[in-house]
Amino acid sequence: MRLYENEAKTVFEREGIAVPRALGVFERAADIHGSVGPDSPVMLKALVLIGGRGKAGGVRRAAGQAEAVSLAAEMLGRKIRGYSVERLLVEEAVEAVGGAGYVGVTMNPADFNVTVIVSPAGGVDIEQVARESPEKILRVELPGNEEVLPEAEAARLAAFLASGLAGGTAQVDTLKTVISKVYAVFQKYDCKVAEINPLLLTAAGPVAADAKIVLDDNGLYRQGGLFHLLGLSTARHDVSEPTRNEVRAREAGFRYVDLLAEDHKKDPERLYVGLVPGGAGYGIFSIDEVANVGDRFFGGRVTPVNFMDSGGGPTVAQVSEMFDLLFDNEVVDLVITSRFGGISSCDIFIRGLVGCLRERRKAGRRVVPVVGRMVGTDLPSARDFLERAKRETPGELEDMQITVGNRKIMAEVIREGIRDAFDRKGWT
Ligand code: GDP
Ligand code: MN
Repeated sequence: MRLYENEAKTVFEREGIAVPRALGVFERAADIHGSVGPDSPVMLKALVLIGGRGKAGGVRRAAGQAEAVSLAAEMLGRKIRGYSVERLLVEEAVEAVGGAGYVGVTMNPADFNVTVIVSPAGGVDIEQVARESPEKILRVELPGNEEVLPEAEAARLAAFLASGLAGGTAQVDTLKTVISKVYAVFQKYDCKVAEINPLLLTAAGPVAADAKIVLDDNGLYRQGGLFHLLGLSTARHDVSEPTRNEVRAREAGFRYVDLLAEDHKKDPERLYVGLVPGGAGYGIFSIDEVANVGDRFFGGRVTPVNFMDSGGGPTVAQVSEMFDLLFDNEVVDLVITSRFGGISSCDIFIRGLVGCLRERRKAGRRVVPVVGRMVGTDLPSARDFLERAKRETPGELEDMQITVGNRKIMAEVIREGIRDAFDRKGWT
């Protein structure tokens, strides 16, 4: 369960980490008026459960009251990467005199070691720092899972952070305290992530200008004290940080999960398969079957790209968007699709697919081969539509091979689709 920034700051502050002075949380711009002085610089921060708000316009600085109210009116009700902004945290702007650092504690999912990460290149995504200047990151793993960060590790982390940070060496002791306290928060509250980015150096010491805490849902049962502190009565149903495709699918109204990282580098030796299955169960089956067929017959060189659940009766436009989303993904080499019984209509499905292919062909947009099978509701009219469509515009639909009815089992459709794709690439 992810905490909102103001909640995470409450936790850090209680642990003794300095945070900016909060002026309140507001749902209406006009309410801010009385809380901000005419010339007091403040930060307006969208309370949404995603990171990267700064880049998306979800963190703004106002020089005083009037600007704060007008910026708030702009921000409230807007959407940030698919999340609507309903509340703003308003706090005094921190005047940094030195650099911006990063301090994070998480768990390495490979071996469950608690991992402390610090960097003097704070204020940007730590993933970006890791890619572009890995020498600016120090990662320390603690296989002992100590409750308190051992002194020697704390000193090493603080020295690394301080030496790379403008004005850092003078504050090395306080930095060490902050690192140890973030670690303590991580352990005490059963966190998956406890993170400060940026940690700004001010004349009075380091201040956590942003705060992120993700609680481990498995530990919530023993976090009654934390819930009490934050005034929460029940666990929130949380959303993890969505990818661009996931946000796009959410906006279109269907469920979608990326299986590859957003910056996944395409391996030219592999075949990447996008999936538009029927319901959620078929979505899981398709992922498994594509991976199994790849392992068994194609040397493990087949990668399923996504989970999708197009069940529940999508519209023609939604079906088109499901395919559009995968065609727009440069990683995808082949799309495998299926309609199997259920309440959603084969007729709507095939109209959505054919419409998508025709439009993209006309517009010269990227298309990859689509193979699949449809069985179930509205099959006769779907078959008629498909046959007519192929007669009318054979060229625009040449990338599509849809088996109608049960002549083939889906496993065969998948295997043949993958084999043909390998043949086209000239791979054996
Ligand atoms: P995020 O983009 O969702 O991680 O939101 P942040 O809270 O980190 O804000 C984005 C950026 O705004 C930060 O990296 C800082 O550069 C800047 N920022 C946020 N709060 C303050 C502040 O109080 N003072 C100053 N000087 N900059 C801030
Ligand atoms: Mn941040």
